[in-house]
Amino acid sequence: MPPRIDLRSDTLTQPTPAMRRAMAEAVVGDDVFGEDPTVNALEALAAARLGKEAALFVTSGTQGNLASLLAHCGRGDEVIMGDQAHTFLYEQGGSAALGGIHPRTVPNQPDGTLRLEDIAAAIRSDNPHFPVSRLVCLENTHNRCSGACLTPDYTAAVADLAHRHGLKLHIDGARIFNAAVALGVDVRDLVEPADSVTFCLSKGLAAPVGSVICGPADFIQRARRARKVLGGGMRQAGILAAAGIVALTEMVERLADDHAHARLLAEGIADLPGIRLDLARVQTNIVIFALDHPRLTPAALVEALRHREVGILAIGGQQLRAVTHYGIEREHIEEAIAAFRAILTA
Ligand SMILES: *Cc1c(COP(=O)(O)O)cnc(C)c1O
Repeated sequence: MPPRIDLRSDTLTQPTPAMRRAMAEAVVGDDVFGEDPTVNALEALAAARLGKEAALFVTSGTQGNLASLLAHCGRGDEVIMGDQAHTFLYEQGGSAALGGIHPRTVPNQPDGTLRLEDIAAAIRSDNPHFPVSRLVCLENTHNRCSGACLTPDYTAAVADLAHRHGLKLHIDGARIFNAAVALGVDVRDLVEPADSVTFCLSKGLAAPVGSVICGPADFIQRARRARKVLGGGMRQAGILAAAGIVALTEMVERLADDHAHARLLAEGIADLPGIRLDLARVQTNIVIFALDHPRLTPAALVEALRHREVGILAIGGQQLRAVTHYGIEREHIEEAIAAFRAILTA
């Protein structure tokens, strides 16, 4: 049984009643033939919403990033990304394993950025010893960096640097709408400088399945080929896309509630014994903190919280993570804070 107050991830969201109705009523066709009207409608909506020419519905964020990298890069090409990037840490090295794409990491700063000078230094010159630098990847919001937001200005500066050297820019925007809501900017302004972006429908937007890649039509054409070879040709996928349309039209503004709840949680636990948490770093729906407690290891805290029906994740070393999402209300956060207090002050 999952814990009642489940803060392990925002992937745990259940579809809304409106999503279930839309799924039941969706008009569908064979999407590999391009004939699923609901998938086509989602792709058109997503492209318009992100200000890009075209879009592609994919099975997951992992598949979206991999199909994007395969569409941008060939074998032996190099992609520059942060050493804390989800694509580097948590996607099985798929671009190297399946695409022969060489990853070049530069350090992620605590605010999720890569320093421009580090990116510039990582771009290869034309030399037969070197792979060919082809792509830079950013992540917004940055999962491993406490859900930090990258700004439109920073993104534009990275795009400018990449483009001056003939590289493309891809954004892993699994939570790009969290960034747009937290910064109070149009999501188009966040992705306008980038050549491509993926975002997840299945996290805070609460759809059961799926992500979307957006970019120029010729790039999306290549990503569509990549999706097929990765096993992502999904036939009557309008059943799933129908929920995605509800996610995009009805579930974006409410992300502000998740951010308020994350802040409430962070403020409620920051001063408890053993917790090390920098409140300035809590910008969206992810709270990452360290535990340095005389009696409790991170695993023991996870276990004790679980007994009180609260789920969080240990993410390595002393670090733990809690994520707020659709279905988590203010009362749940208050209960969770009380559980932390009871355990840590006992
Ligand atoms: C969740 C996530 C992904 C992958 O999405 P899945 O749908 O779980 O494959 C990619 N990037 C980031 C930053 C994520 O948080």
